[in-house]
Amino acid sequence: MMKTLGVIVAMVLLAACRQQAFVRRGGAEGKMAMTGKIEKSEAQWRSELTPEQYHVMREQGTERPGSGTYVHNEADGTYNCAGCGVALFKSDEKFDSGSGWPSFWDKANASNVVERTDSSLGRVRTEVLCANCGSHLGHVFEDGPQPTGLRYCINSVCLDFKTE
Ligand SMILES: [Zn+2]
Repeated sequence: MMKTLGVIVAMVLLAACRQQAFVRRGGAEGKMAMTGKIEKSEAQWRSELTPEQYHVMREQGTERPGSGTYVHNEADGTYNCAGCGVALFKSDEKFDSGSGWPSFWDKANASNVVERTDSSLGRVRTEVLCANCGSHLGHVFEDGPQPTGLRYCINSVCLDFKTE
């Protein structure tokens, strides 16, 4: 009986360690909130991101079209969130929209990306954010290619590309 209990305790501890390791990878001081999502103070974000990343990801900014690292990146791999590391988009779903921003017709993992209505600049658009850390990523438009007809227009600075 005690032996079984010991195994269970060990498993729980192991799971806790794994979770810790995940958080540490996501960001130096990132902590898990009750929802399982990463929450950081604005000071932490400022220290971890470049000024341009901070402006785009935390202040809903937009990088200059054509200026980003990944606009013409054609390598195979996954585009992870630059704020927390979760997978957001895949090279298989990337296409050249001619907009000057990396464009995707679908997301890698639906649960890692959230969308919300953005009424700034006098027009209604759909903002795209990282579901895990709340960072702004870009916008999604309904003029993309099939099979979805969607165009996720994403700032390069919000992405961290990893080859396969
Ligand atoms: Zn994130």
